[in-house]
Amino acid sequence: KGVVHRICAGQVILDLSSAVKELVENSLDAGATSIEIALKEYGEEWFQVIDNGCGISPNNFKVLALKHHTSKLADFTDLHSLATFGFRGEALSSLCALGNLTVETRTKNESVATHLTFDRSGLLVAEKKTARQIGTTVTVKKLFCNLPVRSKEFSRNIRKEYGKLISLLNAYALIAKGVRFVCTNTTGKNVRSVVLKTQGSGSLKDNIITVLGMNTFSCLEPVTLCISDSCNVDGFISKSGQGSGRNLGDRQYFFVNGRPVDMPKVSKLVNELYKGANSRQYPIAILNFRVPTRSYDVNVSPDKRKIFFSDENSILRALRECLQQIYSPSNA
Ligand code: ADP
Ligand code: MG
Repeated sequence: KGVVHRICAGQVILDLSSAVKELVENSLDAGATSIEIALKEYGEEWFQVIDNGCGISPNNFKVLALKHHTSKLADFTDLHSLATFGFRGEALSSLCALGNLTVETRTKNESVATHLTFDRSGLLVAEKKTARQIGTTVTVKKLFCNLPVRSKEFSRNIRKEYGKLISLLNAYALIAKGVRFVCTNTTGKNVRSVVLKTQGSGSLKDNIITVLGMNTFSCLEPVTLCISDSCNVDGFISKSGQGSGRNLGDRQYFFVNGRPVDMPKVSKLVNELYKGANSRQYPIAILNFRVPTRSYDVNVSPDKRKIFFSDENSILRALRECLQQIYSPSNA
């Protein structure tokens, strides 16, 4: 059973960014308005997500990290109208299997917080009182330490994994309304640097200015597109002639109903139209697709980054027309 569990866990948590992503989404699901991500040695030693959300109630302590424990999916039909990020109860159990997991948490009904330690199989092995504000801190030390091959890969690729994580955190910070994000990385003997800091003020525009900078924002053009009554796209894209020669992943952010996702077909379309008008350049793009929850399925890949639209072609067609207009020579 141990081996099967470890294999499954390895599919939900593929790397540093998928691990942190699960924790950030738990914080968002808990209604946090402040989320701090702390890393030690780019996440290689440990990483921690600290939130001011609702906290975890003591009667859930024992089951918290057991496989398929979730407090979020009341009934199977809920899968179609999913409002929360999590719903499979796999993240904490997977993280236990792959690293050393501790949780500190306090709800509004408790006067002190509790520090919880879990073993590889997700069993609660130690519990002690501690001081903390309302909210939850989840710490994972030595991710992949019990998978020797993966662990070596992890150390070797840590800078790359870190880069991917920062770009993912940027995506959450861009789309979040009213959530403050801070990310710090501590290296060597306590040299702590702030790598991301937002006030969570509100509009996508404000978030772009804080996360990507005013210079970047001034090169962008708004995109608003109404595909049908219930389906629309809004965001920003590089103005003609303002793109970059490098196709950096961290310059294109796609969301479906506020959920960061990979959209290779949209990315390909955007690049193709932009390059047509601006030879050999790639645009910055920040696009949020608002569609009815019933029209897509997030349950197709374990990390929930891939989604499946029921009407992808008409969305792509409408986007193509809209971008062609933005990049038509008369607008340049
Ligand atoms: P899921 O998110 O799919 O429910 P997880 O394994 O990510 O599964 O988390 C298990 C449960 O632990 C959640 O359903 C939730 O009740 C609780 N939990 C995890 N993280 C937090 C958090 N930061 N704040 C409040 N509750 C949390
Ligand atoms: Mg979760």
